[in-house]
Order: sequence, then C-alpha cells, then structure tokens
Amino acid sequence: MLTCQTDHTRDRCPCCLNELTGGLDNWHHVCNSCGYESAALDNRINVEAAALCEVAREDGLRTLRQDNFKELMGMISARLTMQSPALLEVGCGHGWFLELAARRFATVGIEPDHRMFLKLQDKGLNVIEGYFPDALNPTEKFDAIVFNDVLEHIADPEAALKACLSIFKKDSVLVLNLPTSAGLFYRMAKIGKQLGLGGAFERMWQKDFPSPHLHYFSAPNLKLLLQRCGFNVKSCASLPSIRLSGLYSRIAYADSTRKWRHVLLWFALVISYPLVRWFTSDIMVVLASADGTDREF
Ligand SMILES: [Zn+2]
Repeated sequence: MLTCQTDHTRDRCPCCLNELTGGLDNWHHVCNSCGYESAALDNRINVEAAALCEVAREDGLRTLRQDNFKELMGMISARLTMQSPALLEVGCGHGWFLELAARRFATVGIEPDHRMFLKLQDKGLNVIEGYFPDALNPTEKFDAIVFNDVLEHIADPEAALKACLSIFKKDSVLVLNLPTSAGLFYRMAKIGKQLGLGGAFERMWQKDFPSPHLHYFSAPNLKLLLQRCGFNVKSCASLPSIRLSGLYSRIAYADSTRKWRHVLLWFALVISYPLVRWFTSDIMVVLASADGTDREF
C-alpha cells in the first residue's frame, strides 16, 4: 500500500539521492543539492478523531478546485486524441475532477478514505476503494493517470510513479497537479517560519491534518524524480493558487475559532491579489510520458 505508510526512516532525497539535512523544524528536512523538501508527519486517513469537518472543507475548496480542474481538463483533452480514452484518477477526494472527466472519458477513480469513497459512490462515479496501485486490477491499462493534489501525500512517490508505468498503454500521459516549493505563498510561509511565525508554514504542510503533505517539489527536482522513474517530462504549467471567489471559506475551513485572523488574512489577500498574480503560483501541473515513447504534446 503506497498511500498509507509514513516512512520516517527516509534520509535520501528521492529526486537526486543526496542526503537530506535538517530543515526549519524537527519534522522538516531538505535536500541542499536539488531543493526537495520532506516532512516526517503522520498520515491518519480513516482515523475517526483526525477527520476534518468535510462540509466546511468541501465548501472551502470547491470553487478554486473546480475552476482549476476545468483548466486542467482543457490541457488533458488537447493531448488525448484517441477514441474513448481511459483515465484513472488516483485519490479522487470530493470527485470534482472525476465528474468533469467522466463527461468525456472512460473514467476510474481510486480513493482510500472510506467516507469520501461512499460519497463518490453516491454521486454515481466509477470508483474503487483502496490504495494505489494495490486496489486496481493489474491487467487494466490507462491512457491517462492523474494525481490531483495526491503525489505530495504519498510516502513513497518513486514507487507510485513506477507503478504508473505498469498500467500505461503505449503513448499514455501522466498528469501531476501539485503544490510547488517555488510558489510565492510557500516561500513567504518559510520566511515567516524563520522569523518565528510558523502557523502558515505548518498550514502549507497540512500538519495535523488527516493526510498531511510529506513532500514539497519544484519543477526541476520533480523532473529529476520523473526521469529516475522512467518518464520524460513534456510540459510544465501552473494553475492559480488563489481565486477571489470562495476565498474566505478556503481560509477558514480548518479552524473556526480564530475568525478575526481569517478576516485579516482574507482582506490582505484581496488587496494584494492583483500583485500576487505576477509571482510564481503555488500550484504546478507537470505532464509526462514514458521514457522511450515518441509522444509529442
Ligand atoms: Zn535532492
């Protein structure tokens, strides 16, 4: 099971294999060679006491994710020219991407969180409960495999990526949509942490969430990892990390006790919004094919 384990013993960078060194907290480690960052945080999917209020979480994330998924679907559709492409989404969450994809592709989703799995089933989506790739039929192949905000939660991303190759068809596409350490908000959160204000930094890692981030990649070090796993990176793009619509819900969903801080943060983001868009976004999208294929994107 790839997505449930937490490997606290990992001391090598998965991207360039250099040794990791201490970072900004006792759970945070960095690779001084390629800039990869890791966190030794516990995954508590399906642990009752760890569950977030899913109604608030859904409300907080829906607008940004749905708008970004529309853009992502455009990128994927332009590259899947075969008839009825088979698309797998690893970790479907609320099912927003799978709902969009199901309109055009033969879709399968895989989701380890039992509550989310039941919700996805209620929506009528074709979804399997369990962890990637163990829960899949190993003979089934896909034209596209999509990880939306999932790779950074997987304890062993190298094994997950190599598993994708075993269920690729000829000319399949791997789509990774994930946070980047080059993003403006992550870099600001790191500065805050160094100044003794660690709240934003811990929030960016989703520390104390049921499934925290275990990795922060940038486009160059993710490319190194993909190359080591047998992929060719074909394109790297970004998606907006904030949109004004639904912004307050997104700020407030994880903590309903500090409303004045949420209002202040919302106000600061709204007035800085025109400026923020000039800096590197915190969300990157990487498209890759299997090494050795001639597929052009
Ligand atoms: Zn490295």
